Amino acid sequence: MKDISNPQSTKEILKKHGFTFKKSLGQNFLIDRNILSNIVAQANLTEESGAIEIGPGIGALTEFIAREAKKVVAFEIDQRLLPILKETLAPYPHASVIHSDILEADVHEVITREFQGIEDIMVVANLPYYVTTPIIMKLLTEKLPIRGIVCMIQKEVADRLAAKPGTKEYNSLSIAIQYYAEAETVMKVPKTVFVPAPNVDSAVIRLTIRKEPPISVKDETFFFALIRASFGQRRKTLWNNLINNLNLSNQKEALQAVFDTTGIDPKRRGETLTIEEFGILSDAIGPLVK
Ligand code: SAM
Repeated sequence: MKDISNPQSTKEILKKHGFTFKKSLGQNFLIDRNILSNIVAQANLTEESGAIEIGPGIGALTEFIAREAKKVVAFEIDQRLLPILKETLAPYPHASVIHSDILEADVHEVITREFQGIEDIMVVANLPYYVTTPIIMKLLTEKLPIRGIVCMIQKEVADRLAAKPGTKEYNSLSIAIQYYAEAETVMKVPKTVFVPAPNVDSAVIRLTIRKEPPISVKDETFFFALIRASFGQRRKTLWNNLINNLNLSNQKEALQAVFDTTGIDPKRRGETLTIEEFGILSDAIGPLVK
């Protein structure tokens, strides 16, 4: 039996069901078995693992995950794909599909219900690019009991997620992600392995969830608000961004005192600060905005 992702099989499946791609749903399907098997290898699944997939499409990646894991649960938004998946995944009874927008789904509840007795859970996905960041942020901020996420995303976003301070890719997203997980780009992927080919280059990243955040802050919500404020206008100094974006213009003296005490230069730009420095500033500036 041929893989679902075999270019000929994919063509036949799409033709048989009269399926047409919806660009608005980020539908670019994988047709290269080497890439699929490499993605799954990056997740280090065992026969005891559970896997969550987002956007199974016609099941190209689901099949490769199902060959390694004890159980796969895939969330698919497009109803037209459900009868197709029922057919293509028939040889894999331990793979099931939930018809849902992942952003609306109660993933905690699904994990409790579907992965009883399974301790090692990974998310593995070729993500729809129009919602990459909200999906990743949802999975991280909801503090799901998962070991990590291996996913294909736009290369440009991958560069930002794994960026180090002082680089041009480093921004509030890099810090937000790195607060919850260790991020690494594990593979670059050419456009030619998808149908239809996307307009952008792709990469696979692996996010390994941290047991503890790298720093401890008094108020996590303010910590993220401070980071967003610091990157508000990229060319502006930290001082100007904080005054403008946190409405601190009548607190200039107190803000100056914070910089004096912490030894952080307010003329620096947000992208040069480390996560630890943001943590120090967050605890010191937090009380000023209350
Ligand atoms: N996994 C398949 C593959 O690799 O060939 C398809 C990947 S395709 C890039 C993205 C998939 O995500 C599509 O099947 C699309 O319908 C689905 N999708 C888009 N938005 C979604 C959402 N908000 N929730 C769940 N699935 C979504």
